[in-house]
Amino acid sequence: MSTEEQIEHLISKKTGQPFNIAESRLLGGGCINNAQRISDGNRSYFLKTNSRSFLEQFRQEKLALEEIVETHSIRVPQPIGIGSTDTEAFLILEFIEIGRPSTGSWELLGRGLAELHKETKAFFGWQSDNTIGSTPQPNRPNENWVDFFREQRLEHQFRLCRSKGLSILGYDRLLDNLDTFFENYQPHSSLLHGDLWSGNAAFDKNGEPFIFDPCSYYGDRETDLAFSEFFGGFDRRFYDSYQECLPLDSGYAVRKDLYNLYHCLNHYYIFGGGYGQQAQGIVNRLLAVI
Ligand code: ADP
Repeated sequence: MSTEEQIEHLISKKTGQPFNIAESRLLGGGCINNAQRISDGNRSYFLKTNSRSFLEQFRQEKLALEEIVETHSIRVPQPIGIGSTDTEAFLILEFIEIGRPSTGSWELLGRGLAELHKETKAFFGWQSDNTIGSTPQPNRPNENWVDFFREQRLEHQFRLCRSKGLSILGYDRLLDNLDTFFENYQPHSSLLHGDLWSGNAAFDKNGEPFIFDPCSYYGDRETDLAFSEFFGGFDRRFYDSYQECLPLDSGYAVRKDLYNLYHCLNHYYIFGGGYGQQAQGIVNRLLAVI
C-alpha cells in the first residue's frame, strides 16, 4: 500500500467512516516534519510525515498526546494514528483551525496548564525515552528529582555537546552542587508538556487554547514555565492565571535559569553558535549563587 492508501485506510478504520484524500495543503510553522492538512472535502485531518526513521518519534508524540487527553485538563489535538511504509512514517491528528486569542483565552491557557500539572506520579521520568526536538531524551524513572535532572537532563546534554567538541566551563562544579537550588523546595512529579514554547501553543477559531507537539514526561512543573519564558515569554495573563491556580515557589526565579540551561544546551548541541555563550552565561550566573 502507498502512504496515501495507508493513511486513508487508517482514518477510515479509526473513525468508522470511509475517508479518501481529495485535497492536501502544506502547512508551514513546524521545525522538523512536513505538515499538511488533508481532507476528503468534508472532514479534515492534520498529517505529519517524515522519513521512516521518525516512526518512533511519532509513536512518542501520540503517546504523550493520549496521556494529556486523558487528563481532560487542556486541549491537545486528538491523536488518530501512526504508520509507516518502506520509506516514510506518518502521524495523523485531529485538525484544529488556528485562530487568534480572544477575551479570556490566555487565562484559559494558564489554567489549563495548571490543571495538567496537577496530574502527578510517584516517580520522575516517563515510560520510555523520547526526544526533545530530534535530540534523544532519556527518561528512566527515578524517585529523586535532583538526581533525575542532573543525570538525565544536564549531564546528558553536556555529554552530547562534548561529543561535538562543544564545551562549557564550570559545568562539573554546577552538577556537584545542584542540591543548593532545592534546599527549601520539594518538587512534585507533574505531567509536563516538555517543550512548551510559543511555537507549540495556539488558539482555535473561537479563541480556545490548545498545546501540541509535546515531549512529555513527569517532572517539576517549573520546567514548563521556565521554557515558556525562554524565547521572550507568553502573555502576562497566562502567568497570572497559572499562579492563581497553582502558585509558584519563590525559588523559581533562580531555578528557571537552571531548567532553561537544559534547553539552551540542546540548542547549542543542535545549532552551535551563540547558544554556547548563552549557556555559559547561565552557568556563570548559577555558579555565582552556589
Ligand atoms: P513539527 O513537529 O515539525 O515541529 P508542529 O507539531 O510544530 O510540527 O506543527 C507544525 C505547525 O502546524 C504548527 O506550528 C501549527 O501552526 C500547525 N499545527 C500543529 N498541530 C496542528 C493541528 N492539530 N491542527 C492544525 N494545525 C496544527
